[in-house]
Amino acid sequence: MPTVNYNGYTITDAEVKNVLQAVCNFFEANVNVTSGDRNFVPPGGSNQSAHLDGRAADFHVEGYDDGTTYLYMKVFASAIFAGGNSYQIIFHGGLNPSIKAHIHVGRYAKTSGMWGYALFQKEGTKDSNIGITNMTTDIKLPLIAVPSR
Ligand SMILES: [Zn+2]
Repeated sequence: MPTVNYNGYTITDAEVKNVLQAVCNFFEANVNVTSGDRNFVPPGGSNQSAHLDGRAADFHVEGYDDGTTYLYMKVFASAIFAGGNSYQIIFHGGLNPSIKAHIHVGRYAKTSGMWGYALFQKEGTKDSNIGITNMTTDIKLPLIAVPSR
């Protein structure tokens, strides 16, 4: 049975861990975590990173290239992300010498209301979006929390 391999990394945020499990279930493939909670800013990283707040994970899905993983997460966002929460998904393409290729998912601090979103962005996928200040945005998808009844 496919599992999320944390590889020794801690991710404090339960909702980010839920996303990793949902990715694992969706692809029916192992998810290999390459970073989680951090108390430092790595080269090329952001001092506003959700990793510093324990609300982010970096990973690959076994058997899928990162571009394919990113595409399917976008198309099937409603199967992967919880409504009412807001997330940032970054496809790091690896053209940036400071940032290896991977998928990043971070959850923003919870705000009130039933509307959340999934913001899909790319970095290091082409010459013009290398570096976190040059990221390009694909789409910001709404994620609504359906009230229970
Ligand atoms: Zn990350």
